[in-house]
Amino acid sequence: MKRPFAGETPGDDELLHYITTEDPAETEELFAAARLVREEHYGRDVYFRGLIEFTSHCKNDCLYCGIRRSNSRTERYRLSPEQILDCCRAGDGLGFRTFVLQGGEDPWFTGDRLCAIVRDIRAEFPDHAITLSVGERSRESYEALFRAGANRYLLRHETADSAHYAAMHPAAMKLSARKECLYALRDIGYQVGAGFMVGTPFQTPQCLLEDLRFLRDLRPHMVGIGPFIPAAATPFADYPPGGVDLTLRMVALVRLLLPRTLLPATTALGTLSPDGREQALTAGANVVMPNLSPQNVRPLYSLYDNKICTGDEAAECVRCMSLRVRASGFVPAMASRGDSRMPLEAAAEDRKISA
Ligand code: SF4
Repeated sequence: MKRPFAGETPGDDELLHYITTEDPAETEELFAAARLVREEHYGRDVYFRGLIEFTSHCKNDCLYCGIRRSNSRTERYRLSPEQILDCCRAGDGLGFRTFVLQGGEDPWFTGDRLCAIVRDIRAEFPDHAITLSVGERSRESYEALFRAGANRYLLRHETADSAHYAAMHPAAMKLSARKECLYALRDIGYQVGAGFMVGTPFQTPQCLLEDLRFLRDLRPHMVGIGPFIPAAATPFADYPPGGVDLTLRMVALVRLLLPRTLLPATTALGTLSPDGREQALTAGANVVMPNLSPQNVRPLYSLYDNKICTGDEAAECVRCMSLRVRASGFVPAMASRGDSRMPLEAAAEDRKISA
């Protein structure tokens, strides 16, 4: 079998070719190569993360997002620190070794409050991975959270093309600021997750090429890639969703460019296609993120329409995902923290801050 990019750094033309190809044989070649690379570095294990969506308040106004500040039609919620800790306890009971605390940029969660929450989780679960996904903050705030015990941080860049970024965000939000945050997080010593949406309004193949170039430079430990799905009552409500096939090709391309990064099979893919997450696993993904948020708030964390997995209990989500992983020929690795095997850069190894 011909292995795309074997032993070479692909040029822009080659990447663009695979971004845009509609040839089924070539696409299968790409997926098979991505599977092979994933197996070389991670075997057939699929890691589980317990996702806690703890606040749907956000001060930002991203044009695509269902919980953007201007959406007055969405009901807001915020979990208390005790409720967040209870979610972690429930997750630990189900076997999770990684918690992901995700929320909008909610000013109520000041640096001090977030640090206190992280410290409490760290004290009770010294060996678990604590991942934060709470947007752009100052370097000092990232450092304080790292010292409090957080060890991973997810911050999707959404698009690495600055004109495209400007078309998707209010003028106050800048791609340069987002990139600065990502490099700072990496420098501090977090395992960093970036990521982007596929099929957003105004996106071109060139924008996706820019995403690949940026990721090659940042070398994040994790890359979240999901299709755009329109959200009601947002400026992008009437645009069509992104394509599943193109999203899967982007997953496979990132696996080939960054062999040791972690790639989630995203809920957005499962929302657009009943077996979208399974397809992602066969295109090189190796992480799933069942939801640990309390059942009554899950439908309210509506970043996009028709999101799946908002009705089941956490235990049911885990059971369902384990079955799906096994049925796809992979191994649910619940007991593992699933740390990235991406080598640390000198800057991170030399860091002054220790956890
Ligand atoms: S995408 Fe994130 S930062 Fe933007 S409005 Fe939604 S929750 Fe807020």
